[in-house]
Amino acid sequence: MEYEAVIGLETHVQLKTKSKMWCGCANEFGAPPNTHVCPVCLGLPGVLPVANEEALRLTALSGFLLNCTVNRYVKFDRKNYFYPDVSKNYQLTQHEHPSTRNGCVEFEFQGGLARVRIIQAHLEEDVGKNFHFDRESGVDFNRAGVPLMEIVTEPDITSAEMAYEYLNALKDILVYGGVSDCDMEKGMVRCDVNVSVRPRGQDRLGARVEIKNMNSFSGVRKALEYEIPRQVKVLEQGGQLIQSTRRWNDVAGITEEMRTKEHVHDYRYFPEPDLMPFQLSDAWLAEVKSRVVELPLARKQRFMRDYQLPAPDAQTFVWDVPLGNYFEGIARQARNPKAAANWVINNLRAQLTEAGTTLADLKFPPTGILELIDLVDSGKISSRIAQEVFGEMFATGQSPGQIVEKKGLVQVSDAGALEQFCDQAIAAHPGPVADFKAGKAAALNFLKGQVMKLSKGKANPALVGEILERKLKG
Ligand code: ADP
Ligand code: MG
Ligand code: ZN
Repeated sequence: MEYEAVIGLETHVQLKTKSKMWCGCANEFGAPPNTHVCPVCLGLPGVLPVANEEALRLTALSGFLLNCTVNRYVKFDRKNYFYPDVSKNYQLTQHEHPSTRNGCVEFEFQGGLARVRIIQAHLEEDVGKNFHFDRESGVDFNRAGVPLMEIVTEPDITSAEMAYEYLNALKDILVYGGVSDCDMEKGMVRCDVNVSVRPRGQDRLGARVEIKNMNSFSGVRKALEYEIPRQVKVLEQGGQLIQSTRRWNDVAGITEEMRTKEHVHDYRYFPEPDLMPFQLSDAWLAEVKSRVVELPLARKQRFMRDYQLPAPDAQTFVWDVPLGNYFEGIARQARNPKAAANWVINNLRAQLTEAGTTLADLKFPPTGILELIDLVDSGKISSRIAQEVFGEMFATGQSPGQIVEKKGLVQVSDAGALEQFCDQAIAAHPGPVADFKAGKAAALNFLKGQVMKLSKGKANPALVGEILERKLKG
């Protein structure tokens, strides 16, 4: 029998706010333990929470970016449990009335587009972090009360690879929207995986296993690559799967059972008594909506369509937004946008990296690249010389026209001058000449190279080829 995997993801991302969710403590990574704490985020008795409006905005914004319905009525509930990293003994979350519901994420997958439905994206608060040393354990509460958004998918994902691509797409969208930096190394994104298998064609879902403890997207992929065949094997051997929670052991590369359904938590959710429900106004939602940006996939498709760019070039401009915006500034006036993209990606980006500078420091105006392309397209300079001109342009800010003039770099297309160089090269290299005559076509490239050298790179290479061939065959 053939089996298929059914996967749903619950992804938590830390929101990019200056302060925490209910107090004024800084939302900042890397500070010494327990330096960003106060009575509110430590949950001392008698304190009252004050909501961070920006966190509510960023969650609503995420809703718009993820094609969700963004709700006007939003309420927080207490999720009660005991654990050392949650000193309040509860976590606030939007259990009953989340900020957003019913969305979807579209992304490129296996040469086409995939679509994963979003059940909801809701706002909650992060908890502290436990540390275990040789003889003792400690808790750092710097992270406690940091605004955390959870994005829950429908079980629409069908493979480890698809889960991986979904996560990358989600991350790109949230980074683009300015919702979260999604820095994995700083623990800003965490993902729990729910996975079951069923005989292909069966409607009913199989018993789901929740996997925890992956600390990267590739960890998620690896955990699924292990867990799916494990479940299939259980069924194939006549066994039964029960709903359970497993833990990914990255070192061993396996999932291990943590608890089964019997131990499922009962959180005894109830409405947070210290906060009024939120009634968001149309004006408030409209302001949030005005922050919606073009999504990465839409940007890629637009660059490919409007400027006839190949996918990898468009992708470069999706990843590097300032570079893409710079390119667009040029491309709108370019006769040859593809050539402009090549200059921006292959030359400009490389020079910026080498010089350790940014686009803001550029000495030449964007029209410089257009002018350079025109000089090449009209045959005035060779593309090799153009590289040199670009370097000079980058260093001095002079226009390509000025540089070509000053350095006498105009391409030599004058037949008389080129004939002379060709005669010189032929006379100086009898060996390759004989080779060519004996049928070794590659020898022509050598001679061409010699002519380019003699002309200091200024000879028109196409004409040189023609002249050499005529002379050698004649
Ligand atoms: P809970 O309330 O226990 O968190 P949910 O119904 O909210 O459970 O589902 C959590 C996640 O599990 C969702 O992403 C959902 O798509 C996924 N899921 C639910 N049932 C299954 C299943 N049988 N197989 C795989 N994933 C599932
Ligand atoms: Mg859940
Ligand atoms: Zn605090």
